[in-house]
Amino acid sequence: MRLLIALLMLLAAAPPAAAQSGEPLLLRPARLYDGLDARPHIGWSVLVQGDHIAAVGPDIATPAGARIIDLPGMTLIPGMIEGHSHLFLHPYNETSWDDQVLREPLALRTARAVNHARATLQAGFTTTRDLGTEGAGYSDVGLKQAIDQGIIEGPRMLVVTRAIVATGAYGPKIADPDFAARGAEEADGPGLVVAVRHQISAGADWVKLYGDYRWRPGEPSRPTFSLEEMQAAVAAAHSAGRKVAVHAGTAEGMRRAILAGADTIEHGDEGTPEIFRLMKVHGTALCPTLAASDAIAHYRGWNGAAPEPQAITTKRASFAAARAAGVTLCMGGDVGVFAHGENAREMELMAGWGMSPADVLAAATSGNARIFGLDDRGAIRPGLLADLVAVEGDPTVDIAAVRSVRLVIKGGRIVKGP
Ligand SMILES: [Zn+2]
Repeated sequence: MRLLIALLMLLAAAPPAAAQSGEPLLLRPARLYDGLDARPHIGWSVLVQGDHIAAVGPDIATPAGARIIDLPGMTLIPGMIEGHSHLFLHPYNETSWDDQVLREPLALRTARAVNHARATLQAGFTTTRDLGTEGAGYSDVGLKQAIDQGIIEGPRMLVVTRAIVATGAYGPKIADPDFAARGAEEADGPGLVVAVRHQISAGADWVKLYGDYRWRPGEPSRPTFSLEEMQAAVAAAHSAGRKVAVHAGTAEGMRRAILAGADTIEHGDEGTPEIFRLMKVHGTALCPTLAASDAIAHYRGWNGAAPEPQAITTKRASFAAARAAGVTLCMGGDVGVFAHGENAREMELMAGWGMSPADVLAAATSGNARIFGLDDRGAIRPGLLADLVAVEGDPTVDIAAVRSVRLVIKGGRIVKGP
C-alpha cells in the first residue's frame, strides 16, 4: 500500500514537460560535440524520444512522425552545467552585496531570481549548482520546485540553501551584528553538524561551508573553521549522501578543506603549488571563479589592460599552478557577481588563460557532471537526459561560439529555438 501511494505521488509530481513530449525529435547539426571527445563528429544526428536521448550517430533512421530539425553551420553540444551560481544575487555594480542582503525584500530578490533562472537556461546552461542564497533563506528550494513543476523556466538546480559560516566571519559587517541580516547561517563546534543536518532536511543537495573570510572589513581573508570542525561537517554531509563545497582562498583554508574531505574548493586564489598537489592527491576539484575576480576588478576601475591589479595577477598564478598540478577544474564563474546569462565569461577566461577550447567545453559538460555526481547528463549518449544546445560555429575551435545559442532543449522539450 505504501509503495502504491509512493508511486501515485511520483506520477502526480511528474512535470508537464515529460508527459507532453510525444513527438520524437531528430536533430541534424553540422557537427556534434559529445562532451567527451575533443574532436566534433561531422554529420552525426541525435534522436530524442521523450525526455531522453534515444540514439546518436551518423546513420540514424527517422522514426515515423519524428520532427526533423536541421541545424546548418551549428554545433550541437550537451546542455552546459554552471558550477557556481547565485541566482539570488545580481551584479555588485548595480547594488552592493551588503545592500542586496540588508535592504532588498525577499519578494524582490525572488522576482529577480526568476528572471535569472530564465536567462541561465536561455544561455544554454541546463543545470546549475547554486552555491547559496546569500541571506535569502531557503528560497532556492522553492525556486527549484517552481522550475521542476514547470511553473517557471530555468535550469535543473543543485541547491545548498543558506550555506554555513563560522560565527562572526561573514557579512554584512555593521556596527551591531545582532541587528543585521546574515549572508549565511552561523554555526560552530557541534552546532555545525546540526546546521548541516538541518539544511539537508530543508532541501540542500550540496553543503557549502566558508573555510575562510575577512573577519573585519579591509582585512585579508583568514581561516574560519578549524580542521576538526570541517571534518565533522563533511562527515555529516557525506553520511547523508551530500557533497561539500568549501569557499577557500587562503592556502590554510584550502589545506583544511582538502584534509577534511571537501569535494570542491571555490576560488582558491592563494593556492600554492604544494596546496594544489595536495588537492590532486585527494581528488579535490577546484572551481576557480576567474570571472568573479575579473568582474570585481572591473567594478573597481580596471579597464582590462595593463597594469593588471594584484588580485588578477595572483589569480592567474594560482590558476596556472592548479593546471600544472593536474587538479580537476570545475567550470563555475560565481555568476551573480556579474550578470546571469553571461555564464560564458568564465569559459572565455579559462580559454584566454591557457586551456584549450575543447578542455573548457569538457569542463562545462562532462567534467562538471562527473564532479557533481550527475551521471544522467553532461554528454550526448543514448540513455542520458535530452539536455542539448545548438550554437552557431564551432566552440571546440573558438570558445566564444557558446554565446551564439540558437537552440536549447531541456528534458526533450524545446525551450529556445525554432
Ligand atoms: Zn559564490
